[in-house]
Amino acid sequence: MVWPCPLPVDAYVAAGREVEFPRLACPACAGPLVLWSGYWRHVRAAGRCRKIFVPRLRCGLCEVSHALLPAFVLAWRLDVAETVGAVIAEVAGGGCGVRPAAARWGVPYTTARGWVRRFRRRALDLGAGFAALAVELGADALRPAADAGRFALTAIGAAFGAAAGLPGWLAVGVWRFACSVSGGRLIAANTASPYLMVGKRRFMPPVPP
Ligand SMILES: [Zn+2]
Repeated sequence: MVWPCPLPVDAYVAAGREVEFPRLACPACAGPLVLWSGYWRHVRAAGRCRKIFVPRLRCGLCEVSHALLPAFVLAWRLDVAETVGAVIAEVAGGGCGVRPAAARWGVPYTTARGWVRRFRRRALDLGAGFAALAVELGADALRPAADAGRFALTAIGAAFGAAAGLPGWLAVGVWRFACSVSGGRLIAANTASPYLMVGKRRFMPPVPP
């Protein structure tokens, strides 16, 4: 699970185990989730590796636990969503090649290339999913572009633009928004259809903790 965390990475890091997060309902049964345990993981932001605490919540009814990731973390990725998104936007948007984007954002070339490849491979699904979400949130329908990657970027931007009219989302920013609505799986290898991820049921507003 991903929550739309608006905190700067530094503030989240500094809070350690005491980090505050919203009290969420179980995604399966809507029962209350309680703090169960947690683990530490690394994130890289602005070229620095940091350790963050990830709470693990448990539903007493389902007896299932869920890790609760802040929206700046993508599942199985070290770099924060803003870095990954910036590189993808520059390269898939046609602004520059992978190498200069990787250098500008201080990430290894092969890492950046992997993000862009995965994004392009998923671009059709992402474009369709985020365009549908944009419409659901009141934006005009988008006309698909010839290039799937650019269309996906346009759709993510349009969905965020529409969401930014709702309380809280503007401060979260476009890439944390995209991470939140995709459940952290924006560029994950195996994922359910983004249609499921962006449906209203999964669209959690960024309530303050
Ligand atoms: Zn449950």
